[in-house]
Amino acid sequence: MSKEITVRQLPNFINGQYVETSNTFDVLYPITGAVTAIAHIAGKAEVDAAVAAARAALDGPWGKMAQAERSKMVRAIADGINKRFDEFLEAEVLDTGKPYSVARQLDIPRGGANFVTFAEMLKEHPTEAFHMDTPDGRGALNYGVRRPRGVIGIISPWNLPLLLMTWKAGPALACGNTVVVKPSEVTPSTATLLGEVMNEVGVPEGVYNVVHGFGETGALITSHPDVDGITFTGETGTGSIILKAVAPTLKASSMEMGGKNAGIVFEDADLDLTVNELGRSCFLNTGQVCLGTERVYVHESIFDEVADRLVNYARNELKYGYPDDETTNFGPVVSDEHRDKILSYYKLAEEEGAEVLHGGGAPVFGDERDGGSWVEPTIWKGLAHTSRVASEEIFGPAVALIPFRDEDEVIKLANDTKYGLAATFFSTNVSRVHRVAPQLEAGIVWVNSWFLRDLRTAFGGMKHSGIGREGGVHGLEFYTEMSNVCVKM
Ligand code: NAD
Repeated sequence: MSKEITVRQLPNFINGQYVETSNTFDVLYPITGAVTAIAHIAGKAEVDAAVAAARAALDGPWGKMAQAERSKMVRAIADGINKRFDEFLEAEVLDTGKPYSVARQLDIPRGGANFVTFAEMLKEHPTEAFHMDTPDGRGALNYGVRRPRGVIGIISPWNLPLLLMTWKAGPALACGNTVVVKPSEVTPSTATLLGEVMNEVGVPEGVYNVVHGFGETGALITSHPDVDGITFTGETGTGSIILKAVAPTLKASSMEMGGKNAGIVFEDADLDLTVNELGRSCFLNTGQVCLGTERVYVHESIFDEVADRLVNYARNELKYGYPDDETTNFGPVVSDEHRDKILSYYKLAEEEGAEVLHGGGAPVFGDERDGGSWVEPTIWKGLAHTSRVASEEIFGPAVALIPFRDEDEVIKLANDTKYGLAATFFSTNVSRVHRVAPQLEAGIVWVNSWFLRDLRTAFGGMKHSGIGREGGVHGLEFYTEMSNVCVKM
């Protein structure tokens, strides 16, 4: 239902203190367009202060803390999030407009889990050791020693704000780094609130810092000479700008970027399962999941049936509404700017010859929600594989269905993209499953499922979707520096 909104202040969080500035911007509620918060933009002085605080904490209490104690504290951050679960939930819903039912299941629990997983993982992980023969017969022992990379700049997007930011902050802190976070300007609330949790659980000041603002604030971090590494999630175009920005100071970078993920439905797929999983992968979070599916290749023998079933899914399973209505599972997109981008693709699809099977526009409510950022879930057929709509990332609840004839052809079609983040396919033929999966050029391949995440596994994209892998022990490559010690006997 309609909401009474008390406008909140969102200051920067630097060295354990909340810091306001005179330069601010409004944060809007995507449901109605109302102002919900005023965020304080960090300029050079604030970014310098945040980096200096992070450096001091690294050289001081955090860097000197025993690993077991640090792991305990990182776990306590998760407990702190869970203790204030409803406040995080409220903040995330105000920023994104997503239904409580979605954020309660996905965003906030994963926010906590990201700290638990990496606190635990580090306790178990050994480094390597090699005995080496030497000409004098005495030999030498090599062993690896890991140390934190240093001050890490975290630049994060708006689609899963707490989840994606803590996906980086969790391993960064568990490995002993300190961080300066620049959350998306569209969704700055949960990163700010997390500062309170850090203070409550006794994380030393300066370990976790948050600075607000647009790309300019991000650029102050990426170009900062005293930041040791940048981990970024966002658009491929922004990633490219960041890679140029980090070059003069030679920072390590971990890049998680855009995608145009393919789905494939083979003729032997279990269609009940397929349509449910595919429906989720196209429309969860109003299509704003980097791993979501925007083009689906369906075997020609079942094309019409799959198309009809997916339309029925969109018609019957997706419920627009206010976020606090527990039956709502389909919210607005995050901003008017993003709505306009998606609607421009809806128009382009028709120009490119699409037949609209479902949606294709923006809903009209006849109430305050008409001031919000809504689009309809949309399904097309008739688009060419090479059309712009079937090739460019839309990042909305829209999918192009394209028929295919045989396995080799569909593997080529799925791989024929500059991106390589995720792929999802459906088949009940075990041989085909194991034959096709390794041929797909994607960092993550799901079979008969979607968005089933084990946080110990490698996560990242190929080609223009990413550089490096995070998740489990793979994140150690970025969040730590390894030295080899060679001791001659
Ligand atoms: P974005 O690239 O517009 O912004 C991401 C962040 O970068 C924001 O905090 C933004 O302020 C900051 N930024 C912008 N310009 C900058 C600059 N010059 N220097 C430093 N920082 C700068 O992305 P978005 O619109 O927030 O997010 C959507 C995109 O994120 C989609 O492309 C989606 O595919 C991608 N994404 C990828 C993954 C993944 O894991 N690969 C996950 C989620 C989202």
